[in-house]
Amino acid sequence: MLRPCSDSRPVAGGRRRGASRGVDGSSTLSLLVQKFGGTSVADSDKILAAARRAIQAHQRGDQVLVVVSARGHTTDELVALAREITDRPPAREMDMLLSTGEQVSVALMAMAIERLGVPAISFTGAQIGLTTDSYHTKARIRNISTDRMKSALDDGKIVIVAGFQGVDENYNITTLGRGGSDTTAVALAAVLGAAACEIYTDVDGVYTTDPRIVPEARKIDRISYDEMLELASLGAGVMHSRSIEFAKKYGVPIHVRSSFSDAPGTWIVAADDARRLGVAVTGAALAKDEARITMVAVPDRPGVVHTIFHTIAKANIVVDMIVQNVSVKGAAEISFTVAKADLPDVLTAAEAAAKAVGASTVMHDSDVAKVSVVGLGMRTHTGVATTMFEALAKEGINIQMITTSEIKISVLVDRAKAAAALRAVHKAYLLDEVHAEVHAPFVPSSAANRAMKLVPLADDGATDTRPRGMEDLVIAGVDLDETQAGVSLFGVPDEPGYAAKVFRAIADAGVFVDMIVQNVSLEGNTDLSFTVPRESADRAAAAVEPLARGRIAIEPALAKLAVSGVGMRTHTGVATAMFGALAERSINIKLINTSEVRINVGADIASGQIALECLRRVFAVNGD
Ligand code: ADP
Ligand code: ASP
Ligand code: MG
Repeated sequence: MLRPCSDSRPVAGGRRRGASRGVDGSSTLSLLVQKFGGTSVADSDKILAAARRAIQAHQRGDQVLVVVSARGHTTDELVALAREITDRPPAREMDMLLSTGEQVSVALMAMAIERLGVPAISFTGAQIGLTTDSYHTKARIRNISTDRMKSALDDGKIVIVAGFQGVDENYNITTLGRGGSDTTAVALAAVLGAAACEIYTDVDGVYTTDPRIVPEARKIDRISYDEMLELASLGAGVMHSRSIEFAKKYGVPIHVRSSFSDAPGTWIVAADDARRLGVAVTGAALAKDEARITMVAVPDRPGVVHTIFHTIAKANIVVDMIVQNVSVKGAAEISFTVAKADLPDVLTAAEAAAKAVGASTVMHDSDVAKVSVVGLGMRTHTGVATTMFEALAKEGINIQMITTSEIKISVLVDRAKAAAALRAVHKAYLLDEVHAEVHAPFVPSSAANRAMKLVPLADDGATDTRPRGMEDLVIAGVDLDETQAGVSLFGVPDEPGYAAKVFRAIADAGVFVDMIVQNVSLEGNTDLSFTVPRESADRAAAAVEPLARGRIAIEPALAKLAVSGVGMRTHTGVATAMFGALAERSINIKLINTSEVRINVGADIASGQIALECLRRVFAVNGD
């Protein structure tokens, strides 16, 4: 589990200076960060309206720092302009181009605030010393120097900073990835020790799902960092997922709200502040443009998984839904998904990996979409997955793959059915209905003690634990759970409704299911594996027996190893480091599941302790 910080030590990055305001809580004046998205600054009237909001906060006595995005569709238009010139614009020049959108906005916002009678000053990313690595178009923040912003704030000015941009160590302009202004805003709130970060956008909060696809979606009053991290990375475009990584690491409360009304929005806060009793699922998300890759006849021996994902991680591609079939005759199928835009690069890497490990073929499907449900409450409710599978079965939607983590279930479906799948699932969890439990408005407390205590970890080797940047991967813990057993069903037919029947039978038997994985079906059938508490294994197997179309295998005891932290999926090297460490000890990986905050693998029970020790060493975590 991630541990909250009980002291005020720095959490990462060399950004701390003496007694300055910061995450250490030494602030005297209250500071508010407000971020305005593209639609909120689309024209001069909207810019003036945003300026008035900043001024209102300033008049209440807060220091105010504003982060702005490019106006309206400017960034899309700049991308289109580049494509008119060339199909393959150099990434460095793309950043040079895209960063201009935000520069226009900050200047106009400063003019608007000055016109309304309050002193203001605008800065680009470079001017506030927001330094990043050199991965153009997807750069990560390393450091932010606060001096210039602080002195302008102390002079009583409203400070306006361009979102989405920074500079690398050679002063090349970089951008943080589409939607990255959210990340700038939360990062600034973190380094300046702001009381809160307000995200002004064109919806009045975070909804149970994208209201553009499901109009019945409802606004959520509070959501935890972990749930929002999952939703954002599983397709909820309302927040840039890396901004939530910042918020969680540095303890920044976020208020997502409408630019166009004063209605309270959604607070994204720590789990203790967001708890909702009796609710298993908080929200649903759709990642529409996914692609699935399957490596066929992969030799089942330690080290193979590591070789495959190491090759892909080197190409800096984020993978999801990693599923490995239970091996039959020493060979397995390994499938995973990537964003469709990454397909050409991932295929090149996967072909190379297939050759290296001796797999026979690499197959892919680029017409798939991922539908996920997320909720902290899943940990304690039985039958949560059943509801999802039954909702899809009722619509006749075939589930191509299944993966889960402690707080989410994802299924892969045909892209043409994706919106219908999202609607069905949203309804099945009653997300369109008003929840009885509504929290009182969240009141942000002082910045002190909100940050987490985490061990920073270098992205590459996993042994260099010196922090290099604010967005470095951080590891909170390595754990071993020896209470689980595995059940596998072979010969699972490729037809809608089968998973629903299986998990209905298990739920009716009162068995709590933990991990679920189902690989894609290649020749009309596949296998489906899940873990249950050891003492329930026989009961679960007996419950599904009447439905079995093939063999049922029980693994009476499994070792489940978990590495948890922040940035587990976006830092492509972490799963690889885990697989590599296990491979070195010749430990065979039987099940894998990944989430934003945790990577779990199932291994042979006899290897549990050895695996735990070696992972703790690799990830530099003490066994307390
Ligand atoms: P901005 O330009 O202000 O950053 P975005 O377009 O990035 O705005 O994000 C807001 C949009 O996110 C909404 O208009 C909505 O369609 C979409 N969205 C997707 N998922 C959700 C969700 N769960 N809740 C609210 N909005 C969502
Ligand atoms: N303007 C950038 C984009 O459109 C960044 C942002 O809006 O957050 O992606
Ligand atoms: Mg956005």
